[in-house]
Amino acid sequence: MKLTAQIVHDTFLECLFKDGESTDNYKLGEAVLIKVGFNPKRLKEKEPLIDKLLKELPTDIHKNIGGGISFLNMCVDINDNQWGEHKNIDELVALGIATGKLSFLTPRKMWNLLPGGMPYLVLNLIKHIMTTISVQCKCCGKNQDLDVDPISYTKWQKGMLIQNAFPDMSADDRELLISGTCTICWEEMFPEEDETP
Ligand SMILES: [Zn+2]
Repeated sequence: MKLTAQIVHDTFLECLFKDGESTDNYKLGEAVLIKVGFNPKRLKEKEPLIDKLLKELPTDIHKNIGGGISFLNMCVDINDNQWGEHKNIDELVALGIATGKLSFLTPRKMWNLLPGGMPYLVLNLIKHIMTTISVQCKCCGKNQDLDVDPISYTKWQKGMLIQNAFPDMSADDRELLISGTCTICWEEMFPEEDETP
């Protein structure tokens, strides 16, 4: 799932009320510039997609990684590519607030004290979403796909011990990540000799 201004805008429009629909029940999405009431049924349907889009933001936005980032820094994705302008970010923020996944770190009346007058937001995803990474074996050159939780993957890249970052991962998969060697090559290499990589 790639985060783009188009997909955010389409999702935003999809979750709004359509002509003739009752607006008695709505989910409020109060972002930085906009304040909208979403159709709760369609918002619920789009929630998995919204989660995936939010997870494409820089990982420091996660409560358990960086603890939150400024609205100003939400214009780039997890790979540091710019994906949108302020109005696009605001639509994503409205969706994230309405689904209860995003929250502001400071009350609105204090925003003027923050850099650029823009708030910090924190992302709290309860359910982890897996992403597939492809690891190339250094020995045979074959690619092996690995399903990882991107939060755990980031923690490991930032220095957390692999057994703490991925407690449920098989030993073979951990080895592939650490040494870049697939199971087949590993077994060929290590029946007798003890080699330091
Ligand atoms: Zn191999």
